[in-house]
Amino acid sequence: MAHVKLYIPGPVEVSEKTFKAFSSPMIGHRGQGFKDLYAKIQPQLQQLLSTKQLVYLSTSSAWGIMEGAIRNLVGKKVLNCMCGAFSDKWFDVSKRCGKEAEALQVPWGSPIRAEDVDQKLATGQFDALTVIHNETSTGVMSPIAEIAALKKKYSDVMFIVDSVSSMTAVPLQFDALGIDVLLAGTQKAFALPPGFAVFVCSPAALAKAATAKDRGYYFDLVEFQKNAEQNMTPSTPSIAHTYALSAKLDEFFAEGLENRYARHRKTNQMTRDWAARHGFTLFPEKGFESLTLTCVNNGAKPGGRVVDVAKLQKLTKDQGFLIDGGYGKIKGTTFRISNMGDETEGTMSQLFAAMDNAMKQL
Ligand SMILES: *Cc1c(COP(=O)(O)O)cnc(C)c1O
Repeated sequence: MAHVKLYIPGPVEVSEKTFKAFSSPMIGHRGQGFKDLYAKIQPQLQQLLSTKQLVYLSTSSAWGIMEGAIRNLVGKKVLNCMCGAFSDKWFDVSKRCGKEAEALQVPWGSPIRAEDVDQKLATGQFDALTVIHNETSTGVMSPIAEIAALKKKYSDVMFIVDSVSSMTAVPLQFDALGIDVLLAGTQKAFALPPGFAVFVCSPAALAKAATAKDRGYYFDLVEFQKNAEQNMTPSTPSIAHTYALSAKLDEFFAEGLENRYARHRKTNQMTRDWAARHGFTLFPEKGFESLTLTCVNNGAKPGGRVVDVAKLQKLTKDQGFLIDGGYGKIKGTTFRISNMGDETEGTMSQLFAAMDNAMKQL
């Protein structure tokens, strides 16, 4: 069967070149070969995230680190900032870890605002906070720099930030943000296969983790640091992903990070233009639209055009392109198009030509 090219917001399309690196011959993970590989990518990851900290590799999807951060860093109570399916779920996960947790819930489509976070943290009840930079279910990008600026006021609160669908597509300067954990899975903006995560921790996070009871082993932040100092991982990593990540980082730097960010802005604008051209409005509150995916309003909010999403999706798929039909409680009343990873103006144009065609048949 012919491959249907992915324009869903994760997993995204993986290139032949990446798959080739992914299928490199195996090496021992305690041997010099792996250490050399990690030592080669470490400075690239540090440059990507503008950090002097060691960047860790986790053989898990993003949720492993999202849960691990809770287990390592929440002692008193965690504030889970919630604005969509993934951030809402993090509250549930905090409770499943046996932690005291409180929800800061805003309506889907709205961002997390620094003033709301400030008000909650001012109660002094919290020693940790979770926030998702780019809420993939609603296509909302929250103002992470403004939220992170609160860290100066609340230095004892651990700021845990998910950048799963934004890391590599927009600049995220870990040290300058001053936050405590920044994490991403590899199947979104990195355009690698799923099953691997990249993350970085502040010295304060490592110090706090060292005192945390019951933090387990697999996601023990202290173990990640100790091993990374030797260019290793706590347990046997996905060596295939590490090879693929190395090849991908070479691509990022060959393109240039600024060019990469500009490409995402451009392909995202093309998507917004496509939606507007067909009479659709966008689901996110104005000014907080994601730069890596577009969540098109299709009846979830008043205004704009409404079509049969299942049919649009099917007609597009028949031409070899997969878009997403909406996530969770806004399935069908929104639909999503990703511009993450390797997509260019040229490849986005191919998708829009197919979607134009599909729209004519609705
Ligand atoms: C996809 C996604 C996740 C979950 O990733 P998994 O790979 O399923 O663990 C978490 N947060 C955001 C923002 C995502 O887009």
